[in-house]
Amino acid sequence: MKQIVIISGKGGTGKTVVTGAFASLAKNKIMADCDVDAADLHLLLKPEIKKRHEFKSGVTAFIDKELCSQCGQCVQVCRFSAVEIGKNVSGEKEFTIDPIACEGCAFCSFVCPTEAIKMEENISGEWYISDTRFGPFVHARLGIASENSGKLVALVKQKAKELAEKQNCDWIIIDGAPGIGCPVIASLSGIDYALVITEPTLSGLHDADRVIQVVKHFKISVRLIINKYDLNKEMTEKIEEYCKNNNIPLVGKISFDESMVKAIIEGKTIIEYGYGKAREEITAIWDTLQKEEQK
Ligand code: SF4
Ligand code: SF4
Repeated sequence: MKQIVIISGKGGTGKTVVTGAFASLAKNKIMADCDVDAADLHLLLKPEIKKRHEFKSGVTAFIDKELCSQCGQCVQVCRFSAVEIGKNVSGEKEFTIDPIACEGCAFCSFVCPTEAIKMEENISGEWYISDTRFGPFVHARLGIASENSGKLVALVKQKAKELAEKQNCDWIIIDGAPGIGCPVIASLSGIDYALVITEPTLSGLHDADRVIQVVKHFKISVRLIINKYDLNKEMTEKIEEYCKNNNIPLVGKISFDESMVKAIIEGKTIIEYGYGKAREEITAIWDTLQKEEQK
């Protein structure tokens, strides 16, 4: 079984469109969306959720008003100004915790003389196992203002792997996060190789290089795809040169093709859309990847 992750130096380079196309082309696979901060593969795959689970991460302080003696010690010790002094409906003084400001350090709960402060686990999002027209799909949604997307990415990957092993799959195809942050790093662990999608611009090359350095740092094999290569052939040549100089396999180039946009509008992958130059090029890229695995 091979695990591949499709990533990019920044958002909007066509990463999810390519992942969706691979979902159409690959046989016997599990798909996973590890771009949990801005998940959008579900828009293409239209999953039917079969199992829904809470994602718990971190703790937040909570004051039991019945036990609170209003001594004010929690206000004094909280370095994050998370304890608020307000008034209840009867106009009496009341101590509450702002859950956004609370960092969950638990200091207040240690100093509270009446044990009125409890640390409660945060529900930071949800993760799902779904059916799609292309097969099983593991994905997630991070709650608003929730952190720990790296932990959620690791969970999505782990569940995708468990499912793939159970079903004896040949591939796990993962839509990774853009950039070089924690979710990308979490999506790299245990994978066979990363496919970086870039566009032919100077900033595209710069961003791709940054993410390639991250992948190389973890000693993971990396390959590159140039999307919309024909929009700037001069820059495409520079990226080809970069690949040659840095020993990065360039596995394919995808043309700018309006059928890509039309396919998205119809909620289809470019493969389902049925025609277009980009469709042929992505199919050729997938064939190349498959042949490499058969060697
Ligand atoms: S330390 Fe405890 S008792 Fe004192 S104000 Fe805070 S919650 Fe109330
Ligand atoms: S847990 Fe820490 S951050 Fe949260 S209210 Fe208590 S002292 Fe402040």
